[in-house]
Amino acid sequence: MGKIYLLDVTNRDGVQTARLGLSKLAKTMINMHLNDMGVYQSEFGFPTTRHESRYLRANLRLQEMGVLQPIHLGGWIRATVEDVERAFQLVPEIKDLNLSISTSDQMINGKFRGARSQEDILAMAMEAIDAARAHGAQSVAINAEDASRTDTEFLLRFASLAKEHGVDRLRYCDTLGYDNPFSIYDTCKLLAEKVGMAIELHCHGDLGMAVANSVAGAMGVIDGGQDAYINTTINGIGERAGNADLVAVVLALKKSKGLAREYRFGRPIRLSKAWKICKYASYAFDVPIAINQPGVGANAFAHASGIHADGVLKDPQNYELYDFKELGRGEPEMVETGREISSGEYSGISGFRHIMGKMEIDFENRGNAADILELVRYANVVAQKPLVADELRFIVEYPDITRELLTLTPLSQSA
Ligand SMILES: [Zn+2]
Repeated sequence: MGKIYLLDVTNRDGVQTARLGLSKLAKTMINMHLNDMGVYQSEFGFPTTRHESRYLRANLRLQEMGVLQPIHLGGWIRATVEDVERAFQLVPEIKDLNLSISTSDQMINGKFRGARSQEDILAMAMEAIDAARAHGAQSVAINAEDASRTDTEFLLRFASLAKEHGVDRLRYCDTLGYDNPFSIYDTCKLLAEKVGMAIELHCHGDLGMAVANSVAGAMGVIDGGQDAYINTTINGIGERAGNADLVAVVLALKKSKGLAREYRFGRPIRLSKAWKICKYASYAFDVPIAINQPGVGANAFAHASGIHADGVLKDPQNYELYDFKELGRGEPEMVETGREISSGEYSGISGFRHIMGKMEIDFENRGNAADILELVRYANVVAQKPLVADELRFIVEYPDITRELLTLTPLSQSA
């Protein structure tokens, strides 16, 4: 039986969303949280984008140091030889890549305006795959953009040829959220059976079905005899109406009627980290968690009406499918109600030592504290809001990595 793995794309789809973005430190914290949660891979960024290079290399160093382990860190690029070359030039240590190309007639005709045929798409994709392999990439996945609007025969040809060229997975992109659970189940089962390769499900919420489609697609892949990799984002943040919400996908697979018996995760997922990761992403993106968000919304375990309150007090299972403690909720949170000293880009040494002292972090000497304070100031220049305790702890623990994350050097000419 195939298994289910999570491949989170918050640091790629999430950050390319209109009005939203993350600092390189925040992206790193997201990778740390995803690793803690048991996510298989984080699509951690864009290796062909110059301002990502230091961040990507610093995170690969954390991986080498055993900090970001066992999570895989995958880069997203276009499926062209040019992008592959540039990715390995800017981030030579990159090991995992997803190569993306449009496969639907709509996009081939609409984007390339007649300059490319289906045959050209196949040739471009295969050359890019060969180049990635030649550079020694450990895992290569090929993304069929707009797969749900792609002619099935062409999609089968595309996937089979990619498999012959040695790709590890096909990413089935429901780029516009066009599928429904029945259509994606059928298509992905067919792909799994006919191509015989692991498949990623990349679903969007334009019709409100991102989670349902991801789960149904994964069921199809597993029923077709292959492993399924569900693409998620934290709090469902992503292009337009967003992607499949990480926590909702986990809840659906663990708690929905009969699912967990047949469709299992390939590695343990720590749902208990849900509260923490969602709260952090919400703060980092500056996007509040919806009051009715599954599992982590303010109302997810709130009961007001007489019948519900009475029922849940007698036995929580009367009106709750799962316990709030399973998601890491219920711990008291410290909120300062009196004097508050926070970190900022103009912080001084005594205020800083006060903040760190509250977190029981002491420095060997004043010079040592001043070095860390300098990094904290720079982190604040980028964040433009107080750093959270986990970020401060990270800076203290990995000052060299932090320095890399904070270094942005625009060049006057492209090279
Ligand atoms: Zn997407």
